Formats: sequence, structure tokens, C-alpha cells
Amino acid sequence: MESLTIIVPCFNEEQNIENYYTNIIKVLDNLFAHYQVISNILFIDDGSTDNTSEVVKKLALDFPEKVSYIILSRNFGKEAALYAGFCHSKADYISIMDVDLQDPPELLIDMYLGIKNEGFDCVAARRKNRAGEPLIRSIFAKVFYYLIRRLSGLQIVDGARDYRMITRQMLDAILSLKESNRFSKGLFPWIGFKTKWLEYENMERTLGSTKWSFSKLVFYALDGIVAFSSVPLIAVSIFGIISMLLSLLLMAFVIIRKIIYDDPVAGWPSLVCLILFTSSIQYFFIGIIGFYIGKIYNESKHRPQFIIKDNSLTLQKV
Ligand code: UDP
Ligand code: MG
Repeated sequence: MESLTIIVPCFNEEQNIENYYTNIIKVLDNLFAHYQVISNILFIDDGSTDNTSEVVKKLALDFPEKVSYIILSRNFGKEAALYAGFCHSKADYISIMDVDLQDPPELLIDMYLGIKNEGFDCVAARRKNRAGEPLIRSIFAKVFYYLIRRLSGLQIVDGARDYRMITRQMLDAILSLKESNRFSKGLFPWIGFKTKWLEYENMERTLGSTKWSFSKLVFYALDGIVAFSSVPLIAVSIFGIISMLLSLLLMAFVIIRKIIYDDPVAGWPSLVCLILFTSSIQYFFIGIIGFYIGKIYNESKHRPQFIIKDNSLTLQKV
């Protein structure tokens, strides 16, 4: 018999968990009835400050065959929560899903069939639109996806959700990537394998609010670009060479003008402008380089990506 683990990261989601469980369990019962797949839900409480961990523990007590949990010692972020789930999943298929029901549970069946009958290694969900999302967020997301595709050369699909089902083999490949600066939307296309995309209409959150502030999203986007592209560093070097050539030309011009006209005072304003302009550009580029160095520093520390405070994995049946 085949097994499926659904990894569900939760951060301050006490209002959503029971509702999520009621909805997902119907689909999981169907999966068992029609395809004999035994499923298990692995909740990862990502350091919630509300009652998420209590709600999850109670569910695990009530339905020990179906629910297990990992409670992280603080909020490590969704990527780390997912990684914690990946490290502790033993099933044949692994799925990632948000708890706010923005990921339609019934797609799980199509995902399973895509892998089982059509030979895909991964079946992932993609929103057709961003209805209900603030305009500025949508524009930002579009620009980000365009940039990261151009810079990384990877097929990072616009509107792609983390919601997907993958095979054990694909999970092992994901686990073989040991980097700390994890950007799953890039890691999945990077490891390759065959992915099928299922499109669906955007769903708004049932309860609670998004856990991503705009600034968190900007840093997430920067992390993604730095993790998958060295193009900004190369662009800086090319810019440096071009500006060096231009300043050599300018120097030649100034020297020749001095020899011909002997006019030492004129040109101060433009000189000041030039100094200011070039030094400000230098600051900007040193910042970009610093960003990469910061990431290298973090990677070199080899810190664990999450710390578990409590878990129910001894109860896990799958
Ligand atoms: N989440 C998490 N840790 C975080 C932020 C979010 O585990 O630091 C979880 C959250 O509880 C939800 C999922 O990740 O299950 C997606 O978060 P959210 O719905 O806020 O993101 P959005 O759908 O707005 O992109
Ligand atoms: Mg959401």
C-alpha cells in the first residue's frame, strides 16, 4: 500500500487548523477508498504565539493515525518549517500545503493521478490570477518573477504555489541540497524531474491574515535572487570596467584641454558632480557585494535550520 505525508506549516493559525482538517480529511478518505493510499498530516508549528500548538496537539491525540506534529522552538520562517517537514517525512509521496485553505484540497487527487498515471515526478499548483490581492503586491510579484527567471535561467513559474505533491525520489534530491538560504520555488526547478502544473482560480484566505508583510516579501525576493544568480555581481564588474574606461577618456580630455587652453580653475563643478556620482554608485555596488558576502557568512556557519521543541513523531504511523 502507498503512503502520503502532507506537510502543513502553521504560524499563528489557531483559527484555521480544525477547519483545514475537516476539509482535507474528506479528500484523504477518498484517496484511500479509491486508490488505497494511506495519508498522514504533519503539522509544523513554526513558533506560533497563539494556541496553534495546543490545537495541533489535540488533533494528534484525537486522530493519532492521521495527525502528527513538530513544534519549532521559535518562528524560523516557512522555508525552514517546510524543511523540518521534509527531514521527517518517510512516505512514498510528499505534499506541501498551506493551512488557510488557499490551496484547494481536492487538487490532491489530481496530483496523485498525475504522478501515478501520467508518470510525472511532481504535480504542482499554479494560480491563474491574483484576484483579491493588493495591486502593489501583484505588480511586485510579476516584476520579481520576470527578474528571477532572467537572472537564474530557471523556469520559475509566475503564480506557482508551494502547493504540490512530489515523489520520494524527488524529496531525496531536495534533501541532498544542504544550503541554509533555502528558496524552494527555485530548488524544485533546479533539481529537475518532470513537473505538471495544475491551474486554479485564486482563493482568498478563509480566516486570519497573511503572514507575509511587504518587507518580508521583499527580503524573500532578494534571498531568491541571491540564492540562484550571480548575475548582479557580474553586472557590477562589467559596470566597473565600463566606468573605468569612461573615466580614462575623461582624463585624456581634461589633460588635452589643459595643454591647449591652460585653464586650471574651470571645471570644478563638474568635477564635484562626478566625484559624488561615482562614489554613490560605489556605495550602491558595495552594498550588493555585501549582501552576497552576508549570505556566504551565513552558509559558512552551518547552523541548523530549525530546532524542534516537541513532536509527536513516535505516534506517526505512516
Ligand atoms: N507560515 C509559516 N511560517 C511563517 C509564515 C507563514 O509556517 O513564518 C505558514 C502559514 O501559517 C501558512 C503558509 O505558511 O500556512 C502560507 O502563509 P500565508 O498564508 O500567510 O502566505 P500567503 O498565502 O499570503 O502567501
Ligand atoms: Mg495564504
